[in-house]
Amino acid sequence: MRTFPIFVSFDGSPPLVVGGGQLAAVKARLLLKRADLVDVAADALAPELAALVNAGKAVQLANRPGIDEIRGRPLVISATEDEDEDARVAAIARDLGVPVNVPDRPALCTFALPAIVDRGEVTVAIGTSAAAPVLAQRVRAWLEHELHPRIGDLAKLAGSFRARVAEALPEGPLRRRLWEGIFDGPAAEAMLRGDEVAAHALIGEEIDRAAASSRQVDGSVQGRVILVGAGPGDPELLTLKAVRALKAADVVFYDKLVGEGVLELARREAELIPVGKAKGAHSVPQAEINALLVARAKAGETVVRLKGGDPFIFGRGGEELDALRAGNIAIDVIPGITAGAAAAASLQIPLTHRDVSHTVTFVSGHEAGGKAPSFEHLDLTALASGNNTLVVYMGVTTGAVIARRLLDAGFREQLPVIAVENASRANERRAATTIAALAGDPEGLGLRSPAVLIFGEVAGLPHAGAVETILSHQEVARAYA
Ligand code: SAH
Repeated sequence: MRTFPIFVSFDGSPPLVVGGGQLAAVKARLLLKRADLVDVAADALAPELAALVNAGKAVQLANRPGIDEIRGRPLVISATEDEDEDARVAAIARDLGVPVNVPDRPALCTFALPAIVDRGEVTVAIGTSAAAPVLAQRVRAWLEHELHPRIGDLAKLAGSFRARVAEALPEGPLRRRLWEGIFDGPAAEAMLRGDEVAAHALIGEEIDRAAASSRQVDGSVQGRVILVGAGPGDPELLTLKAVRALKAADVVFYDKLVGEGVLELARREAELIPVGKAKGAHSVPQAEINALLVARAKAGETVVRLKGGDPFIFGRGGEELDALRAGNIAIDVIPGITAGAAAAASLQIPLTHRDVSHTVTFVSGHEAGGKAPSFEHLDLTALASGNNTLVVYMGVTTGAVIARRLLDAGFREQLPVIAVENASRANERRAATTIAALAGDPEGLGLRSPAVLIFGEVAGLPHAGAVETILSHQEVARAYA
C-alpha cells in the first residue's frame, strides 16, 4: 500500500471501532489520544472497553454496524478478529468513501496507522508503507529521545499568539521570520526550560519589535540576500548554516554546479530558480542575476543565492556583493567547501605538506572571455621550485595549454598532476598524469567539466581510491613518435 501522510480532524462525528475484544480496546485507546469520544460497535466488551464506556469516553453501538452507522465517520477501524466481519465492514466503508483500517490486513485498508510521537500540539507520524514496521518503531524511539518533552507546549504557546501576530505583521516572509526568531531564540529557550511567564513576555517583545522594524522610512518592507556556498555536490558537505538558510528561503537562485540533493533541502514552498552558467551557455547574464537578487530582496523576501563550492572562489560572489551593497540590501555570506578541498579530501592527499608543498594557489583555467590563461599575474618561475601546489579550476579544456606554460616556466617534466571530476558525487572520476604528458595530449585526461586539476608533488603522494585514467609520459611519447 502506498500512502500519503495527513492529519485527520475528529471535530465532527466520532470515529468508529468495530469489535469488542482487546485488540479493539487498544485501537480505541489510540484514537482517544485525540478524540473526545469513540463509538464501539460490539455485543460484548472487554473490561478495558467497558471501563471506557463507564468513563463516558466510549459509546457502545449494536454489533454488525451497517451503512447508517458507518456513513459520515472520519474513519473506521474494524478489529473484530473475525475475517468475514472485518471484510464486510471494510467493503461498506470503502463504498461510502470512509477511510478504513483492519489491523494486519493491508488489502482491506484504505489507510495505515502510523507510529506516533505524541507531544500534544506537535505530533510526528511515522510510516514505512508497511515495509518495515519495526524500523518505524526505531525511528520513533529515536525521535522520542530527540524531541524536547515541552516542544508541544511551545507550539501551543505560539498558537495563542497567532491572532496578535496576524494583526501586527502582513502575511508572508516577515511573519515567518518572526516565528523563526522566536523558535530559534530566548523565547523558545525559556519555554523549553519550563518558564512560561518569561516565554510569554519575550514573544510579546519580539512581536512588537518586528512590527516596529517592518516599516522602513519609505513604508516598504526589506528582505535580505544570503550568499550560500553549496559545496562540491554531496549534501553532507553543506554547513549547518547553509541548511538553515535553505530552510528559511522564499526563493533560491542556484547555479548549475549545485547538487540535486542540496536543492532538496530547501524549504518546500521556496521558489527554485536556475540561473546556472554551463560553460559557453550563459543562461542568465550576471547583470540580470544581480538585478533579480536586488528586486526580490526589496520585495521583502529571504533570497538565497546558492553557488557551487565556496561563493568567493571563482564564484563571481564579489560582483553580486557590489550590486547588493549598491541596492542597500542586507547580506549574509555562508562559506562552502571549495571543489579543490573536496577533491583533495576524496583523494586523501594534502594540498600542503611540510616536506613537499608550502603554499597552495587556486587558479582559474580560463580568463574572462573564455581564453586559456596567460598566467601573467602569477610568478610561475617562483612557483616552479616545486614546493607549491597549484589547483586549477575550469581547466579541463585548457589543461594542455596550461601544462605547456608551466613547462616553459621551468616546472619539471615529471611533476605529477592529478585531476578529479565531480568530486564528492556518486559519479566522481579521477585521472593522473605528469605535466609533460598532459602538455603533449590535450585530450589525455579523458575527463569532463566540472573537474579540478592539482599540479604539484602532493599529486604524487599515495592517494585513496582508484584512478580511471593514467596518462604516462612514455605512452604519450610513443603515441606521438
Ligand atoms: N565556487 C566554486 C568554483 C566555481 S568555478 C568552488 O569553490 O568550488 C567552476 C569550477 O569549479 C569547475 O569548472 C570545476 O573546476 C570546479 N568544480 C566545481 N564543482 C566541482 C566538483 N564537484 N568536482 C570537481 N570540480 C568542481
